[in-house]
Amino acid sequence: MKLVADTHTHTISSGHAYSTITENAAHAKINGMEAIAMTDHGPALRGASTEVHFMNLGVIPEYIDGVRIFRGAETDIMDFSGTLDIPDKILSRLEFVIASYHDIVITPGSIEENTEGMINALKNPFVDAVAHPGNPVFQVDIDRVVKAAQEYGKLIEINNGSFRVRKGSFENCLEFVRKCRKYGVSVTCGTDAHICYDIGKFSKVLEILEEGQMPEELVLCTSLEKVEDFVSRRKAARKAAVSALKAKQAQAL
Ligand SMILES: [Zn+2]
Ligand SMILES: [Zn+2]
Repeated sequence: MKLVADTHTHTISSGHAYSTITENAAHAKINGMEAIAMTDHGPALRGASTEVHFMNLGVIPEYIDGVRIFRGAETDIMDFSGTLDIPDKILSRLEFVIASYHDIVITPGSIEENTEGMINALKNPFVDAVAHPGNPVFQVDIDRVVKAAQEYGKLIEINNGSFRVRKGSFENCLEFVRKCRKYGVSVTCGTDAHICYDIGKFSKVLEILEEGQMPEELVLCTSLEKVEDFVSRRKAARKAAVSALKAKQAQAL
């Protein structure tokens, strides 16, 4: 299987990552990527991007060096009711939003609590995928999370960085892949690169996809067309969600 898109990458705007978007695009190209999502951390992580960073992402060209740049965010799940660290109003304007837990932001809960928080994040109309959901520090009920992704038309991320920084992720990720195959849920692939050289390096992700016998049609990142299709479908859903919110606010007045 060949992957051509990396939907989880960081720039210096995250505060603890070390490359610019220009460097990221150049190395994406060198490493065989046709697209990347620029998913810097939200304000809950110390030193990370402020809301204004996400509001101004429109200045970034669609293509840099021939590589499609999806303007996105990695937003933190702040509590088990699914509160995020970037407001809906800003998330609604982005192209690819991943939501995740970090233990410096939220203390891990019980399996039940972790699962609820992740499902509530997936329920948010402006979230496209949960990032590194296989992290054993935030153990979840994998079956329930994948079923929720199916219900809301969202993605499950398989994260290459997990195997280095989130030890014990392998079994959980494999289980996520198996459940995704069972319920027909697509996975997206992210390296979680915090420096340009790591973009597009998917050796562990490919190993998991192979071991879990994941069919190519359920892997988003095997073609740019598939990613574009997903993003434009989600764009329509975002628009509908914004209209629904506005109607609700007008009714409340
Ligand atoms: Zn990070
Ligand atoms: Zn990340």
